[in-house]
Amino acid sequence: MEKYYHITTYGCQMNVHESEKIAGILSDLGYIACDDMESADIVVFNTCCIRENAENHAYGNIGMLKKLKAVKKDMIIAVGGCLPQQIGKADLLHKKFPYVDIIFGTHNLNKLKEYILKKQQQKKAVIQIEESEGAICEEDRPLRTSYPNAWINITYGCNNFCSYCIVPYVRGRERSRRSEHIFAEAKSLIADGYKEITLLGQNVNSYGNGTDDLTFPQLLEKIANLDGKFRLRFMTSHPKDFSEELSKVIARNDKICNNVHLPVQSGSDSVLKAMNRRYTRKDYLEKIELLKKHVPDCAITTDLIVGFPNETEQDFLDTMSLVKEVGFSSAFTFVYSRRDGTVAAKMDGQIPEEVSKDRIMRLVELVNENTRSQSLKYVGKTVEILCEDYDKKKDMYLGRDEYGRMAYFKSDKNVIGEFIKVKINSANGISLVGDIIKG
Ligand code: SF4
Repeated sequence: MEKYYHITTYGCQMNVHESEKIAGILSDLGYIACDDMESADIVVFNTCCIRENAENHAYGNIGMLKKLKAVKKDMIIAVGGCLPQQIGKADLLHKKFPYVDIIFGTHNLNKLKEYILKKQQQKKAVIQIEESEGAICEEDRPLRTSYPNAWINITYGCNNFCSYCIVPYVRGRERSRRSEHIFAEAKSLIADGYKEITLLGQNVNSYGNGTDDLTFPQLLEKIANLDGKFRLRFMTSHPKDFSEELSKVIARNDKICNNVHLPVQSGSDSVLKAMNRRYTRKDYLEKIELLKKHVPDCAITTDLIVGFPNETEQDFLDTMSLVKEVGFSSAFTFVYSRRDGTVAAKMDGQIPEEVSKDRIMRLVELVNENTRSQSLKYVGKTVEILCEDYDKKKDMYLGRDEYGRMAYFKSDKNVIGEFIKVKINSANGISLVGDIIKG
């Protein structure tokens, strides 16, 4: 009899890729993916605790499974990821949702198979959280779900301790995979027909630090030198470690996309200091200048936080002016989310919700205006799109250009995984619409 699994993923790209590793484990055990929890024999919640709303969202969804579990007693419910990895949260989850069968953290995802087999032999819940990160597991066999795109972890964890961020507490200290493993993975993905590879880490720029291995620019260039037509991206970069050497490597390798995500978080020096970001506004702008010197057409994206403790109106206006000065091609904007256990959570001067709301609305308007005006510049141009997917509702295919801009177009045949020339006819905010250029 066929057995089915369903995974719900919260949070960032890192988690999306970790869900592919979970899918690999489940498929090894004979489970097949299904779209709804009702049909599943095992349901996994791969949680995120970076922002309060992601955490609450997970609690809400786990809570909704209570009724289903009451009638489908053999269904296994597993909760993993960084939510249970926080101190005390696994017990809290167990108390709040006693019908959850397996609780595991970020450091022991690779042992999920063992926990499932254990649970099948015992009545009581399997709760396994490992405090320390341990050695990097090279045995993962992810079941990739995003063809033609593929992600490769190059580092795990983070040493930076930005004062608002829970990541170093739930993902441990920074560890780099050996370059030979990364290189072999990239080579095999390209041989399997993947067309875009994204190297992942909390701070890819510090890859290899403290080891005798390659530096990040060396690793990137080595992968870019592989044969075949493919694109290479990386995320995320910490501005303090972003080097001129990296800008030069991007400039001299066509396969590395001219698209860099460089999270600035704030344009105010006092807020950056309180965030423990270890760069000033001036430092950041100098990095941007260097990047643009070597890669003049580079599309730069960023992350921005408003409402950090003690952020004044002037601090916020400094962020607004930095956004104008850099001309980001797009930006992810967030209201500061207080996370227990971080340094910022203990700071006085938490900003009232209505002030943060007003600031985020003004910031989003500015960011959208930038994005719209940059999208408009595409109209009439022909761009190379890597087709990634088909949108049923729109009856159109979609994909991105090397700068990360999304474009929709019609095609009478399936072109997912192909590089397609598209003439852009209109721009709709962040996305573009065009026609395939034949021949
Ligand atoms: S660099 Fe800062 S924001 Fe990014 S994961 Fe590390 S601590 Fe968090």
